[in-house]
Amino acid sequence: MSKQNQLNNLNELMRNCTKCALRKVCTQVVPGAGSAEAKILFIGEAPGKKEDKTGEPFVGAAGKFLNEMLETIKLKREDVYIANVCKCRPPENRDPLPEEVATCWPWLLEQIKIIQPKLIVTLGRHSMERFLPGFKISEVHGKAMRREIEGMGKQIFYTLYHPAAALYNGSMRETLIKDFKRIPKIIAKIEIEEK
Ligand code: URA
Repeated sequence: MSKQNQLNNLNELMRNCTKCALRKVCTQVVPGAGSAEAKILFIGEAPGKKEDKTGEPFVGAAGKFLNEMLETIKLKREDVYIANVCKCRPPENRDPLPEEVATCWPWLLEQIKIIQPKLIVTLGRHSMERFLPGFKISEVHGKAMRREIEGMGKQIFYTLYHPAAALYNGSMRETLIKDFKRIPKIIAKIEIEEK
């Protein structure tokens, strides 16, 4: 079965998920969007108001900023895959609770297994902590790290500040843009090492 068909099946299962209380208070599940063949998987935190309304990840102000940064490295949203650690909107945009992230984890794990990205780019602290617990985002942003994750095997991670956090913070914004522009070089290095 093609990766796209596998993702379509998974999305259908996700849309019917009622494993945590968030599904009762959100409008809809936001599984993720992009290319099933993507080399890069961006992982944010959880859907916000606009994402909850449209069913698409990163379509609000942070999403617009993400699109702009993708353009600077000559990529479109359709070239990458964009998902969140939590697929349902927490009420009032609060942070997802650890148990909500844990309940949602098998969905993300399945997405990663299907897409098999060369690089996982975590957006913000919550996403980073899921894969790189114990690290400080201020210390690891802009650094590619290879880590073995249970159920996933070895994977390369690249940590970025969250676009929403950086949007109105001058120095964080500059750092995020600078870190983002390094993505093509990291992919090129991964591809050379694969040969
Ligand atoms: N912030 C996120 O972390 N994810 C989204 O989908 C939108 C905003």
